[in-house]
Amino acid sequence: MLRFVAALLSAVILLAALATGGFAAQFTDVPAGSWYEIPVSWAVAKDVTEGVTATTFCPNQKCTRAEAVTFLWRFDERPHSTRKAGFSDVKADAWYADAVDWSSCRGIVQGMSAKTFAPAGLCTRAQIVTILWRYAGSPTSRAANPFHDIDASDYFCGAVCWAVEKGITRGVSEAAFAPDSACTRAQIVTMLWRLSQILPAKKTVVLDPGHQLHANYEKEPIGPCSTVMKAKTSAGTYGYASKTHEYQLNLTVSLALRAELECRGYRVIMTRTTHDVDLSNIDRAAIGNQANADAVIRIHANGSTNASVSGAETVCITKNNPYCPGTYAKSRALSDAVLTEFCKATGAKKRSVWETDTMTGLNWSTVPVTILEMGYMSNQNEDLTMATASYQKKMVLGTANGIDAYFSS
Ligand SMILES: [Zn+2]
Repeated sequence: MLRFVAALLSAVILLAALATGGFAAQFTDVPAGSWYEIPVSWAVAKDVTEGVTATTFCPNQKCTRAEAVTFLWRFDERPHSTRKAGFSDVKADAWYADAVDWSSCRGIVQGMSAKTFAPAGLCTRAQIVTILWRYAGSPTSRAANPFHDIDASDYFCGAVCWAVEKGITRGVSEAAFAPDSACTRAQIVTMLWRLSQILPAKKTVVLDPGHQLHANYEKEPIGPCSTVMKAKTSAGTYGYASKTHEYQLNLTVSLALRAELECRGYRVIMTRTTHDVDLSNIDRAAIGNQANADAVIRIHANGSTNASVSGAETVCITKNNPYCPGTYAKSRALSDAVLTEFCKATGAKKRSVWETDTMTGLNWSTVPVTILEMGYMSNQNEDLTMATASYQKKMVLGTANGIDAYFSS
């Protein structure tokens, strides 16, 4: 419902802008009534473009490969990348570096060679259609190829058939596609606008790295209308072997998980990206509720007075939870999927899904939520293992696989 209202609101804003001359009116070179006026207005409203200058969009300017991937990266809401693409002609501080890293890590663009991306090279019609097709998941098209200048053996043949079938682009004539012609900025923005109308909505995942620099021992009710009170945010545990606080490990893993999930096409919202925050468990649940999240993952590590205890577990409300019983089935499925895939990827001992109605952050959630307890920092071996980059990567992949499995079940 919230998402519907938000979509309606942005549609109203866009319509109002168009009625009053539109966002595109800021550009002197985007004439009212031109075929690209609405796409350019949409692109400005969606933060896909700011124009070449404050007053010009340069619609007929040929688009470079750097511009093309940057349009798509912004269209995808500027996702973080899990790794560097490593092209020798893309400097780390280039304005398009994040876009190239992301699109490369997502398998959307390949370089012109193994080592080079050719950012200033013009983006051809074949290239942009292939980029959009891969972004859409490389769907199979049943449409026949009507173009004499495209051969079934061309790498972009399937992409062009899909794009024409979906109305994202058409040939330069009935029988010709002109695959090697450069695209203009207006053409690419128009293709993105059309693509936006056929893609399914992204799933929103909220990641809550547990705890923070300073605990907050003020009390808050453990559920709506409850008289049972608990600390707003407890201190969390500590790994004596790794000399790591739980809040540090939780954030390290969560930031890497954000990049991995964004590369898999999710919209990710973090409850915190720094340690020095003051967020109670109710505050954290409210972030997931306000986002109307499709899933909330609360990232934690465990502690025990028994140093021999180890393994991973997830935490879920019970079937008879008095605060939010309607979310039980989905939260249980999420808890099962994340625990199974986490243990499969890491090799950690699989404990169980712990069902309890004592967790403030679960009781206040109106959306599916699980707590992932990645392992025991009180177990010297597990503590040291969780501190390594290689095991953290496994934890990230396992959790992401669990989220994938939850949504595909
Ligand atoms: Zn914790």
